[in-house]
Amino acid sequence: RAAGFPARKLLEDFDSEHPRSFDRETVARLGKLDFVAAGRNVVFVGPPGTGKTHLAVGLGVRACQAGHSVLFASAAQWAARLAGARDAGRLAQELAALDDHAVLIVDEIGYTPFDAETTALFFQLVAHRYERASLIVTGDRPLGRWDEIFGGPSAPAMVDRLAHHAEVVRIDGDSYRMRRATSAWAD
Ligand code: ADP
Ligand code: MG
Repeated sequence: RAAGFPARKLLEDFDSEHPRSFDRETVARLGKLDFVAAGRNVVFVGPPGTGKTHLAVGLGVRACQAGHSVLFASAAQWAARLAGARDAGRLAQELAALDDHAVLIVDEIGYTPFDAETTALFFQLVAHRYERASLIVTGDRPLGRWDEIFGGPSAPAMVDRLAHHAEVVRIDGDSYRMRRATSAWAD
């Protein structure tokens, strides 16, 4: 079962020659999905257009094919969803309901900063799933700079739990979108 994928992207369609630097062995190993069974997290970090969402969706598609349920949303959408549940007094039920999904994908962390209240909601999500169920996160900056994204007292604990047992994949290089734009101009 899969929901919310922006577009169907496969690991097989990812050109690992395009990024300037990229740990292809780690991604190949992640594709075997041991991290899902272990309830570990995956974090893709890199500049825009380097394929973070592609790889997150590719892992998600593969997890679906293996029979796992996967839910995809942007960090901003997750924030709104969790805030809605909290406001309705049913955050605990929402977190429990999300246990039906072996993998949650949180795309585009860092595009909007989160205040202390929203950070506390992400802490609840990360702590609830800690060592039990996976999160795949994409973001534009390394975990060491997530204090620029998450505010308030629960930020360090949230990042600590997310990063512990997490596989962090750094992608460096130029935007694949620009490459395509450039070749379109050249044609
Ligand atoms: P990001 O999330 O890092 O901003 P995306 O994953 O959205 O980047 O990638 C932008 C577009 O370029 C998508 O259509 C994606 O499928 C494609 N793309 C990016 N990197 C690669 C790659 N190395 N091989 C094939 N397609 C890629
Ligand atoms: Mg993206």
